[in-house]
Order: sequence, then C-alpha cells, then structure tokens
Amino acid sequence: MWIDSHCHLNHSKFTPEGGVGEALAAAHAVGVGGMLSIDCLIREEFEGLLKLVKPLENVWCTVGTHPHDAGRDDEKTVSLEELISLARSDDKVVGIGECGLDYYYNMSSIEDQQWCFRKHIKACLETDMPMIVHARDADDDIIRIIREETSGKGMRGVMHCFSSSTKMGHEALDLGFHISFSGILTFKKSEDLRNFAKDVPLDRLLVETDSPYLAPEPFRGKMNHPALVVCTGEVLADLKSVPVHEMAKITSENFFSLFNKAKLTV
Ligand SMILES: [Zn+2]
Ligand SMILES: [Zn+2]
Repeated sequence: MWIDSHCHLNHSKFTPEGGVGEALAAAHAVGVGGMLSIDCLIREEFEGLLKLVKPLENVWCTVGTHPHDAGRDDEKTVSLEELISLARSDDKVVGIGECGLDYYYNMSSIEDQQWCFRKHIKACLETDMPMIVHARDADDDIIRIIREETSGKGMRGVMHCFSSSTKMGHEALDLGFHISFSGILTFKKSEDLRNFAKDVPLDRLLVETDSPYLAPEPFRGKMNHPALVVCTGEVLADLKSVPVHEMAKITSENFFSLFNKAKLTV
C-alpha cells in the first residue's frame, strides 16, 4: 500500500461533486490506500477541508497557512493559541502546515512569511505534531529559523516536495526531518535530486503528489491526482535498489510513524 503524504483534495480541480470520489477510486485501484490533504488557508479553507475529509476513510488533513498567504490580513489574525487549538480540534487533523518560506514567488513579504513560519514551529513544539514545510529559494533561512526556534535540537516534520539543495537536505535530515519526494523526482532534469535521494536513509523517505499540481512522468503536464504517487514511488525504489512493493511498505510505515495521529480505519 502507498500513502500520498501531500495532496490538495479541496482544490477546485477535484470538484465539482464526484471529483474527489473519482480520485479516491483511481487511487484505491492502484494500491494508494491513504492520503493527507494539506491546508493552505486557515481562515478560508480549513473548515471546508475538515468537512471534506471527515467522512472519508484513511484521508486526513492538516491546518496551516501557506507562505504565499502569510501576509493576508485574515491569516495574520490567526494567533498561536488558535492554531494550536485547531490542530487539536479533531482526530482527522494530523499535522501542521503547509508553512515555510517561498522567496521564489514572494507573494507575501519576507517579514510576514518568517513570522508565520515561526508561529507554526511553535505550534508544532507545543502540540508535538509534525510540521509540513514548503521551502523554495529560502534554504538558509528555513534551516536557520528551525534551529533558532528549536534551540538547535530539531523537530518532527517533513520537507515536502523536496527540491532544495543537497546541502539543505542533509541539514534537514540532521534536524530530524523526513524528506518527501514528488513527481519532480521523475523529471529528466532532476539528476541532482535523484543523487540526493540515494543518500536519504530509508526510514526518512516519504512520497507525495502535491496534486493537482506537478504530475510525474509519463503524465507531466496533465492534472495530477493521488494515484500517480506510484510513479514517483517506482523511481524511488529503483534509486534505492529495493523492490517496488517494499518501497511502498517503507514509505507508508514512515508516514504513520511521523504522522502518528493518523490511524488506518479499514
Ligand atoms: Zn508546497
Ligand atoms: Zn502543497
């Protein structure tokens, strides 16, 4: 069984009605038995996201503010206390994020992004819940801020859709993070990323789609969905020289040890 550790089932591409049902059926047909649907907007999306995943077996969600949205007036009203209480509000909420820094798009100011990121780290430390980190063109600040907030001790979490430098990857591993690979791993140009994947210990590996974005080869350019996590998993199995079914087992076990609030119900 595979687990898609990062998707956005509440994205409009999975709707209207029936969209999510189709995606789940396609996922189950290829052995993707669980998925984590990630929150990006606490004010505008979280409530609806929780309502969406609530009746779905083996589908969980997170709570958090994406760095793109860190500067939004409504997101800035979310206090640390409120974030903590939402994270604890339901068994379906198993992680905090996605949060982090995105200096590529800079859709929110650097100051707002950093303040928001620090708030999420504090919430993770307080709740002992894992963090889902979005990092783009901000490697040094991501590592520096985590070190500062955790007094260098590190914390539980995942560098999602990993595409940062090998140096940053090793620093994240040293801080205790898991590394999640997306369809980017399958792209022709991702030679450095594939080399880094060979270095990641087996017990720190996760796979994800980040759907509906970033479909892996051979589906690049099409709409992504959780079933396609298998394409990334197959490439990862090859890089690590383990059988595909073994890689499915390893990454699923890693998912449940990191997201320890998530329990299989069937
Ligand atoms: Zn992201
Ligand atoms: Zn995402």
